[in-house]
Amino acid sequence: MRRRRKTKILATLGPASNTPAMMRALFDAGVDVFRINMSHTSHEMLAKMHADLRALAEEVGRPIGILCDLQGPKIRLGKLCGGPRMLKEDERIKLVLGETSDKPEEIPIPHPEIFQAIKQKHALLIDDGKVRLRLLRKGDTFAEAVVEVAGEIKDRKGVNMPDTLLPMSAMTPKDRADLDAALQLGVDWIALSFVQRPEDVAELKKIVAGRAGVLAKIEKPKALASLQGILELADALMVARGDLGVEMPLERVPGLQKQITRAARKAGKPVVVATQMLESMILSPMPTRAEVSDVATAVFDGADAVMLSAESASGSYPVEAVQTMDRIACSVEEDELYHSIIESQRGVPEKTTPDAIMAAVHEVTQTIEARAIVCWTKSGITAMRAARERSQAPIIAPTPSIETARRLCLVWGTHSVITEDIRDFDDMVKRASQIARQEGFAQAGERIVITAGVPLGTTGATNMLRVAFVTDDEEQRA
Ligand code: PEP
Repeated sequence: MRRRRKTKILATLGPASNTPAMMRALFDAGVDVFRINMSHTSHEMLAKMHADLRALAEEVGRPIGILCDLQGPKIRLGKLCGGPRMLKEDERIKLVLGETSDKPEEIPIPHPEIFQAIKQKHALLIDDGKVRLRLLRKGDTFAEAVVEVAGEIKDRKGVNMPDTLLPMSAMTPKDRADLDAALQLGVDWIALSFVQRPEDVAELKKIVAGRAGVLAKIEKPKALASLQGILELADALMVARGDLGVEMPLERVPGLQKQITRAARKAGKPVVVATQMLESMILSPMPTRAEVSDVATAVFDGADAVMLSAESASGSYPVEAVQTMDRIACSVEEDELYHSIIESQRGVPEKTTPDAIMAAVHEVTQTIEARAIVCWTKSGITAMRAARERSQAPIIAPTPSIETARRLCLVWGTHSVITEDIRDFDDMVKRASQIARQEGFAQAGERIVITAGVPLGTTGATNMLRVAFVTDDEEQRA
């Protein structure tokens, strides 16, 4: 079974979709990687979803990726003792450290770090930015602010502080426990929320120790300021437009989306565009024209994957939302301008053998109109390098590692195949041809381009390019 589309679909599981039957329907509709959001998932549910997804992969005979999204240090208001409260423009209000306060006029926040880190004139955005406060003065356990944008506030609403570098780890005790559970199960990707600095990614990578890919969600201005450092350490990025659109002016998000996707592609790391892509499909079987255009833009930008959140987790039309994404991505990828737009964003190869080989793989593939690029890979790196080129031919990634095969489900244009280790060079060429034919990418007599790192199994040492004709079974036996 092969997909015709290169851009991958990542769908969040939730009450609308976490049964084996719905997982199957979503996979059939086009989901390549399933996301489990730990903001709303118990360890028991995580284990159940994980087991159901692994059983689904067995059933369909294809690797399926699982991404576990850690909640991260989301700052929330405490409990308001007088119930919901309307804040008026220019009103001066007092914030205090604590879960609650017995004075109705005080607004409690149970996070001591924010009182340490916030500075005069910094903004506090409440409830996805619906209410905006500006800091006037502060002490160790209190702060005074003026209301710039009025609105109602309620218990436990989220607080964003875009101007403040918070002295907190990107992992809370809950995240550490969730991470432990996810790693024990063996999920394929771990997403880290509210990354502020490269050190946040380094901290997670140390714990993960190669057992999963690490994806950094870019949703804070501080992360944008150190994007290169984060990109060097992370295995993938997400343009997490939900919080990004609260922490930054909304109108800057489209430009940032382009910057982040380009930076990730240049580094050869997968990038996901997320949040509100088909938001109206939570309630409607049809998307808006603007939503279709938004998904199409992400595909034209060369994103590795587009993501569904509430649309697939709690909406009324999860399958239709996936089918819609699938149709949009397929249609864009067939558009006559698609390849020239993608090609114009190709970077210059660095002066390394793997980069030079991949540039050559791209040129040869395009020139001879090869049907597929076959990347033999153990770690997945050769396939990711090939994906960075965004050639017109699909990438087949045969690998002896099931973990690599699942992780590659997130990568643009890559169809991973679990296969036993190859014996020698001739075996590699013969089996590449066999796999390309069996998986439905090429017929006998058509050409494929094969690439690998020789000796095989040396991580990152891509150094070989070979053009081969696909043969049929009889020719292979001869
Ligand atoms: C986002 O903010 O866009 C996002 C994907 O994160 P979450 O769904 O965890 O808020």
